Amino acid sequence: QKAKPEDTEVWTPVPKVVAPVTLPGAPPADAIILFNGDNLDNWVSTRDTAQKAQWILAGDAFMVKKGTGNIQTKQAFTDYQLHIEWRIPQNITGNGQGRGNSGVFLGGWGKGDDGYEIQVLDSYNNKTYVNGQAGSIYKQKAPLVNSNLAPGEWNVYDIIWTGPRFNADGTLKSPARITAFLNGVLIQNNTEVQGTTVYIGKPSYKAHGPLPIKLQDHGD
Ligand code: MG
Repeated sequence: QKAKPEDTEVWTPVPKVVAPVTLPGAPPADAIILFNGDNLDNWVSTRDTAQKAQWILAGDAFMVKKGTGNIQTKQAFTDYQLHIEWRIPQNITGNGQGRGNSGVFLGGWGKGDDGYEIQVLDSYNNKTYVNGQAGSIYKQKAPLVNSNLAPGEWNVYDIIWTGPRFNADGTLKSPARITAFLNGVLIQNNTEVQGTTVYIGKPSYKAHGPLPIKLQDHGD
């Protein structure tokens, strides 16, 4: 039989109509708004997930309250596109890993730093190990370039997270993947994640389902 053009046309399912972003930083119509500029209602403390996040509202942003611990979303996710804007204080002091250190755990659990961290740090003019600078998958993969803005300016992360998949027996089926832009510049290109972030030693996987997004109180 002779092949026809119609043989390779796909008509369903039809992609959902989503109003596009018309202003920089504005959410698309189908976005889940995790922070609306007014309150932390969608966030809880990782020390007690029945407790509201104790971080500080400041204008239409919020700020780490040192010593109150990490915070996480109430909701859990598997795969997503994340838009998050972060700023290092203009009067930042310290150096290396102690200069505005925070982090976005693209999936995280527990009270501490268990999860998959993309680093937040002042890396505008601050030397540290490159797989620990802003935009790194912490201790795994340095960013492709350094597109940080100076302290006091808003940095923008646009991150595409594909969570890991596990077989029924708990073994890894497929690793997590991260594509990320910092201020519109590609910094991670479909990077394969080697496992959960560890400070000392080698990363590895253990099976889990959907996870909250967690933000780090590193004491900075
Ligand atoms: Mg960090």
